[in-house]
Amino acid sequence: MKTQKRIYLDNNATTKVDDRVIKHMTTFFRNDYAVASSQFSHTPGIKAKNAVSEARHIISQKINSKTDEIIFTSGATEANNLAIKGTAAANKDPKRKKIIISRIEDFSVLNSAKNLERSGYTVQQVNVDNEGFVDMEHLRSLVDEKTLLVSIIYGNHEIGTIQDIKAISKITSEKGALLHSNAAAVFMQKPIDISDEGIDLLSISSHKIHGPKGVGALFVKKETPVKKILDGGFQEFDLRPGTENVPGIAGFGKAVEIFSREDLDTVSGLRALLYKQMRAKIKGIKLNGPEDFSRRIPNNLNLSFDYVEGESIVLHLDMRGIAVITGSACFSRALQASHILMALGFTHERAHSSIRFSLSKYLKETDINYSVKNTKEVVDKLRELSPLKKVEIKHKEGGLS
Ligand SMILES: *Cc1c(COP(=O)(O)O)cnc(C)c1O
Repeated sequence: MKTQKRIYLDNNATTKVDDRVIKHMTTFFRNDYAVASSQFSHTPGIKAKNAVSEARHIISQKINSKTDEIIFTSGATEANNLAIKGTAAANKDPKRKKIIISRIEDFSVLNSAKNLERSGYTVQQVNVDNEGFVDMEHLRSLVDEKTLLVSIIYGNHEIGTIQDIKAISKITSEKGALLHSNAAAVFMQKPIDISDEGIDLLSISSHKIHGPKGVGALFVKKETPVKKILDGGFQEFDLRPGTENVPGIAGFGKAVEIFSREDLDTVSGLRALLYKQMRAKIKGIKLNGPEDFSRRIPNNLNLSFDYVEGESIVLHLDMRGIAVITGSACFSRALQASHILMALGFTHERAHSSIRFSLSKYLKETDINYSVKNTKEVVDKLRELSPLKKVEIKHKEGGLS
């Protein structure tokens, strides 16, 4: 039997680990497997410590921070928890009891903020426009002297929207509020300069950029009041206890080091091609997220297909070897419209008919062609069967629509 083609278009969820990253990590499983905090006791410990320091250096350079402002965690989820719960734990000002987030946050931010309601915090959500950009006027009206922290997702993993974080930080800093941004989906796909952009806390993740899963980091600007949220030892500048994930951290550093401009250009070229072909070949498509691709994560495309359930498209495409998702990844089992698409003011129909195509450097033009051809076949077939479409046509014939 012919092996089936496999085209992975779910790279906003996770990515394939680059072979060079795997090779680099192997050393820290096989040879230099000591604990980094044993650097004062023996040579193997020094080697482990050096690997962690090197990764810290590489990552800090990418965001223009100091090395000791990078705190390694188990991923962006933990970094988001630490940023939000950690600033609340360190908060000494009883008047600052408000957290502001956007309506399109990842659950790790949304639920961390909600968690603080139990400790007397108020959580407010800032609106976004129909492309997912933060409503600046609304933000300005919410941020005040009672605001401890504002947390806004930098690049949205579902619809690709990249916020103007610098403009947001102007608003937050005026009122003395801290600014956290979850950059897991956009780190390395867009240059980030924490000092120019006025960011106090920034979450990043390794497995979105061809690094290993289970490792990420929180940038914490010097002097920012943050307390650790786990009890344990004094690792990671006393902000994140536990034995350092040396192979993971080293792999994260390597993934950042080898991430190239050329690969990024390849990906955004393929994304443009995918969109162009989809529009040329399939009618009744709506783009979800920014029209202006320069304000969108380069590997993200999100489309709604009129009259068809995203869930059905996903299942049919999977049978043809193509991996995509509908709505939010966490929701795709529950058939509930994603809160992100609903925040843009879409109808349930549009949200439920959405498909996210997220690309990587491992794809070829032929993969794009194959994906478009199959999406067209699947959508055509489903539309023939669609009760929604029949109703619409009847309306048209009867002059009702
Ligand atoms: C992937 C992702 C996360 C989760 O990151 P982990 O490292 O898997 O915990 C959070 N937020 C966004 C925007 C993401 O893309």
